[in-house]
Amino acid sequence: MMNALANKTALVTGGVRGIGASITRTLAEAGAQVIACYHTPGDHIDVLEKELATIGGEHHLVLTDVTDPDQVIALAQTCRERFGKLDVVVNNAGAISHVPFAELPLAEWHRVIDTGLTAAFHVTQQVLPLLDRGASVINIGSRVATVGIPLRAHYTAAKAGLIGLTRSLAKELGPQGIRVNLVAPGVTATEVELPAEVIARYEGMTSLRRLGATADIAAVVAFLAGDGAAYVTGETIHVDGGI
Ligand code: NDP
Repeated sequence: MMNALANKTALVTGGVRGIGASITRTLAEAGAQVIACYHTPGDHIDVLEKELATIGGEHHLVLTDVTDPDQVIALAQTCRERFGKLDVVVNNAGAISHVPFAELPLAEWHRVIDTGLTAAFHVTQQVLPLLDRGASVINIGSRVATVGIPLRAHYTAAKAGLIGLTRSLAKELGPQGIRVNLVAPGVTATEVELPAEVIARYEGMTSLRRLGATADIAAVVAFLAGDGAAYVTGETIHVDGGI
């Protein structure tokens, strides 16, 4: 992947923690200049900033709530001022909770849909003027979107909505040479610690008998971001170890 994304610029939402941080790092290692936005301040931001400085190139970590329309407009403005154009947009930010459907508060439904689906629409719409032929939009969905899972009706609805958004945008933006795809991770190990029995159960569900690593997801995102995927659009790529 060395230099596969040289001269490309990228925006990664939720790009400072978990899968998003791995995507930011991988795109930077492949030569892209990256703007990564985050919502929760913390020491992990300094850590990633240092890692990106070691990799080299121009990168910016920007505090943005992707559910706030004004902040999304400001984020697009930052992308314009810093880079003037965008080649890669990764809509990775998402929210989840585990709530029985009968007790799911309307406000929680809106929080999860706003973060996981509406933000992908709004971010992509606001940066659209910065995208040119060859640009790649990558939405991060989830394996559960197509199979369903109890206690996460709001989350699966948001992720299933992303599939429709991806397919329609691929058709609408294709004539302008802009590709739109979705990466659907299975259970992926992040900083969030899972009980050993939960890990064992999830591992047993996969053909490869292991959880995904954030780098597994980032590698597929980097492929879709690059010119090697120049004829791939409207696709959902499952990265789930063969569940
Ligand atoms: P988490 O689900 O733990 O965190 C979500 C990410 O979204 C964080 O980077 C967070 O930023 C960001 N975010 C949340 N709310 C906002 C907001 N209002 N504005 C801006 N950013 C926000 O991260 P994961 O790494 O686990 O997941 C990344 C993506 O992959 C998500 O879309 C998730 O649904 C999807 N996914 C993950 C799986 C897994 O097993 N880990 C499985 C399938 C899909 P911050 O930390 O700054 O708050």
